[in-house]
Amino acid sequence: MSSSTPSNPSQQHIMGVYNRAPLAFEKGRGARLFSTDGDVYLDCVAGIATDGLGHAHPVLVEALKTQGEKLWHVSNIYRIPEQEELADKLCANSFADVVFFTNSGTEAIECALKTARKYHTANGQPERIEIFGFDGSFHGRSYAAVNASGNPSYVEGFGPRLPGYTQLTFGDIEAIKAAVANPTTAAVIIEPVQGEGGARAMTEAQLNELRQLTREAGVLLIYDEVQCGMGRTGKLFAYEWASDAAPDIMCIAKALGGGFPVGACLATAEAAKGMTVGVHGSTFGGNPLAMAVGKAAFDTINTPEILDNVKQVAGYFTQQLNGLKDRFPDVIVDIRGKGFLIGIKLIPNNREFMVLARDEKLLVAGGGDNCVRLLPPLNLTVEEASEAIAKLEKACEAARAKVAA
Ligand SMILES: *Cc1c(COP(=O)(O)O)cnc(C)c1O
Repeated sequence: MSSSTPSNPSQQHIMGVYNRAPLAFEKGRGARLFSTDGDVYLDCVAGIATDGLGHAHPVLVEALKTQGEKLWHVSNIYRIPEQEELADKLCANSFADVVFFTNSGTEAIECALKTARKYHTANGQPERIEIFGFDGSFHGRSYAAVNASGNPSYVEGFGPRLPGYTQLTFGDIEAIKAAVANPTTAAVIIEPVQGEGGARAMTEAQLNELRQLTREAGVLLIYDEVQCGMGRTGKLFAYEWASDAAPDIMCIAKALGGGFPVGACLATAEAAKGMTVGVHGSTFGGNPLAMAVGKAAFDTINTPEILDNVKQVAGYFTQQLNGLKDRFPDVIVDIRGKGFLIGIKLIPNNREFMVLARDEKLLVAGGGDNCVRLLPPLNLTVEEASEAIAKLEKACEAARAKVAA
């Protein structure tokens, strides 16, 4: 042990699993972050799509303060009225009948995978254990979640892979057909819009077809909407863009708590039929404090004001970003994603481009396939979007100058 005074903290006692930017913040307001060095940044990361309403949204602050003075935590051995209310809201606005609350996206995924296998056991088909995911997908960091994810580096060195997890090629419908025809298949898990993989969106037709194939085969369909859900695409849930693609099970988290740790696994009553008393649980999941903030975030996000704003400002972004792509074909090769889950695929290294954006006081997120992602708060104004575009243009100029040098 060594001493470091609070006024001069260091990273030496932080487990080194993150390559952190040399930047810390002391305050946030809306889409602005104020650094400890006194700089002001435009935040198009939003805590990786988590601060859906920006920083210090007054409704969320009020909900946190009010509940904070009443009751934080009891236990799921009691009824929790705030939890029942948020579950009612989620079910009234989705395909789902029941909800299990968690503290993170990963735990929601864990619950979804367990729910799927337990369903088939309850159905008299315990041999159905295979889970099919996709390349480039990200479902979290627990053992089950990394095994379900399509990033081999997340499982390396952690012992044997768990049995029953396979990845298919994103969009390869023939492979999906073969997978669901397999009599030991339990479920297919997919992000309707991939986040970490680089903002790759399934088309509406692909989602409809996936739904039809899984339904016909008696295979459960799990959506991971941890990143693309809660208004990020301009609808409350991304699957709503497709006409007939409602899942059996869905995971949400990130913006669900607007920055407070809350996740949820939603399911139809049928899909959840194996999840009976005692088979699953959580100490913190769904506690009154988390639920009070979650309810406030849900009620604020699930409004035409916010959802229409995402659609409109996303349209502006798409148009402007394609303009940048035309002017900087040596920097930008593709603009993709959906709503406010925007991917900019680059020629120069994406990590280096993030630094150039940061030099312009713009925060953008990294992503697979050499993308940077724009994940702004859902209430970003068109003026702020135009500011982001101006900063991105400068970053493109700097990137071009770097290549020329
Ligand atoms: C962030 C994320 C997760 C994991 O959520 P945590 O809250 O970090 O556990 C899972 N799936 C997707 C699509 C995500 O973006």
